[in-house]
Amino acid sequence: MELIDTHCHLTFNDLIRDVDGVIVRSKAAGVTSWITVGTDMQENLKAIELTGRFENMYAAIGMHPHDAKDVTAQTLKELKELSQNKKVVAIGETGLDYHYNLSLHQDQRRVFAEHLRIAAELALPVIIHCRKAFDETMEVLDNHAGQVEKIVFHCFSGSAEQAKIVLEKGYYISFTGVVTFKNARIKQQAAKIVPTDRLMLETDCPYMSPEPMRKQKLNEPALMVHTAEYLAELKEMDLTDFADAITATSKTFFGLP
Ligand SMILES: [Zn+2]
Ligand SMILES: [Zn+2]
Repeated sequence: MELIDTHCHLTFNDLIRDVDGVIVRSKAAGVTSWITVGTDMQENLKAIELTGRFENMYAAIGMHPHDAKDVTAQTLKELKELSQNKKVVAIGETGLDYHYNLSLHQDQRRVFAEHLRIAAELALPVIIHCRKAFDETMEVLDNHAGQVEKIVFHCFSGSAEQAKIVLEKGYYISFTGVVTFKNARIKQQAAKIVPTDRLMLETDCPYMSPEPMRKQKLNEPALMVHTAEYLAELKEMDLTDFADAITATSKTFFGLP
């Protein structure tokens, strides 16, 4: 089994300080490739640097919607330059977070649109962060329809109804360990209707370890196998078949070898 953690934050302090151990444990568990996601300029640079140390590691770079208020024209210019690096396989995470509201909505929308423009110019896929802003996110994406080839909703927290809308637009859906939680019925119903050629997995570590490891404070890529096991069972699929299918989907989406 060779799974790809399509969204992790390996440069965050708790993980980077033991990154060699994190990678050894991940490989041993069958999670053999990683896309580490930058959330601001400092993390973007760290993410690209880290990919130089591990063969199957790639980076996604962007400015998190939380930090939209700090994004200037200069930031976007730098982001575009950095994304030319051959280990950068996606733009993001970008999108709208109306739960924490750490930046004004108008700033979030402006920066989100700018990310879509950069991704379109460079023909890179986009990782969307969407929290309590589903309709607004779809509206921004509709305004840029046809410009960005591939879009994934990461850490999907919507309903089956919303998943259907996302799929109809041709977008992809990625689940974290949150889908394994006992109180995650709505997300589980959504996961049921997402076909494996549109479904990807991620840890979003260091956050949110999956069941039955939920008590482990620090999540890491090795634990993603529990999410894979859970979803294979939910979809009444053999684990290996499920893993092969979503790994193929992830490789196609991010253009990995
Ligand atoms: Zn996110
Ligand atoms: Zn994230």
